[in-house]
Amino acid sequence: MSEGLSLYNSRTRRKERFEPIEAGHARVYSCGPTVYSAQHIGNLRPYLFADLLVRALRSQGLRVTHVVNVTDVGHLTDDADAGEDKMEMAAQKSGRRAEDIAAEYTEQWLQDRRRLGCADPDVLCKATEHISEQIEMIQALEAKGATYRIADGLYFDVTTFSRYADLARLDLEQQQGGQRIGEVEGKRNPADFALWKFAEEGVRRQQEWDSPWGRGFPGWHIECSAMSTRYLGRQFDIHTGGVDHLPVHHTNEIAQSEVALDVHPWVNVWMHEEFIDFQGEKMSKSLGNIYVLQDLLDAGFLALSFRYFFLQAHYRKQQTFNDEAMAAADRGYRRLVAQAQGLSEEGKGDPEALEGIRAAFWSAVHDDLNAPRALALAGQVARDEALPEGARRTLLTEFDRWLGLDLLTAELPAAIQESDPRIDALVAERQAAREARDFARADEIRDLLAAEGIAIEDTPDGPLWRRNE
Ligand code: AMP
Ligand code: ZN
Repeated sequence: MSEGLSLYNSRTRRKERFEPIEAGHARVYSCGPTVYSAQHIGNLRPYLFADLLVRALRSQGLRVTHVVNVTDVGHLTDDADAGEDKMEMAAQKSGRRAEDIAAEYTEQWLQDRRRLGCADPDVLCKATEHISEQIEMIQALEAKGATYRIADGLYFDVTTFSRYADLARLDLEQQQGGQRIGEVEGKRNPADFALWKFAEEGVRRQQEWDSPWGRGFPGWHIECSAMSTRYLGRQFDIHTGGVDHLPVHHTNEIAQSEVALDVHPWVNVWMHEEFIDFQGEKMSKSLGNIYVLQDLLDAGFLALSFRYFFLQAHYRKQQTFNDEAMAAADRGYRRLVAQAQGLSEEGKGDPEALEGIRAAFWSAVHDDLNAPRALALAGQVARDEALPEGARRTLLTEFDRWLGLDLLTAELPAAIQESDPRIDALVAERQAAREARDFARADEIRDLLAAEGIAIEDTPDGPLWRRNE
């Protein structure tokens, strides 16, 4: 454990040994969800990743302050300040209050996180509850001459910040010739972004506030700069988010913060997780190719089987989700839990041999959170009959502090196979339909059974089914 934690920093583009700014204390900010609808399992990957990061920091004996925001205003349908506010749009469509929608989906997201074994953040902060901090930061930017006002709102002029292109290595010249500038009338540079948007004349928004510039609402990016400063100080250690945040959201956060606070680097380490793909494309709400966690549970999978699925890929690699991969992860998880829980407490083993295994596990964790390697090592320990059972149990208990799979305590639902002539016949018919490539019929039968609370799992030995708990 002594060689330290090494993390890949998107800012410097290399793995670096992590050193907190304040001795013994790691300060981490993660961009959170926009709560206008349910989070799909792709959206949950950033939080699983951040959970592994926080656990790794804690395994180093560090105190961690983990701040996560909830975007409940200002995130437009286009990240570049065009389009409509996602929260307002959801409110209009459903006839509900934006506030109620935000509360519902925040709660659902927190519940999903907990089901997946993610510790609650130390600070959970909402954009709508930090309007004054955002206004103050915009005022600081205005005082520095970094802003300008147009009909649509108050904007940040990116040419006032010489390092603007650095994080994402943007080609601003090329952007200058691009089309984004036309989307908001009066913008000076394509990359300029809104700090404060004015409420449209004659349109009454549910969420709008007074400000020194007029009634309106904050741009999306300013909330993260303002709230991280409030809870973590003017400079902090690690900022996380999805890779899609590199060229716009995180680039803008850095510009605002470094100009307003007069610091550099504002954040030492930037960490980004890759996407989950489904059917060859990024899983996303706009493409509609999404699953939410509840869908997986309804299909008979365990929530922690999805965590196990996530652990099978490194966070910086794209991961492909499909039914087969999920079913395989579910089987892998159940097998590992059954193996762990089948171990007795007999035998301590050779301390040196155990130390070697322990060191291999933690060096995988501390090598930029190498979850696939750590998970494989846990699997080896569970199966290694050369080690006494008590020693294996001790090691797995220790490893689980990072893996978060509840290996020794999870209660697995009843074994997968049951028998019922009618259901057996339907499952057989579905299998025949699949073999005849009649997927419509096969899906129809799966849906019919799902409606009765029955899940089918396709295994190399043929389909198995069971009733959900
Ligand atoms: P959104 O609610 O769309 O702002 O997304 C919330 C977070 O989920 C962001 O950090 C995105 O980068 C991330 N995200 C969105 N789609 C995926 C995906 N398919 N796989 C992994 N992360 C994603
Ligand atoms: Zn953010």
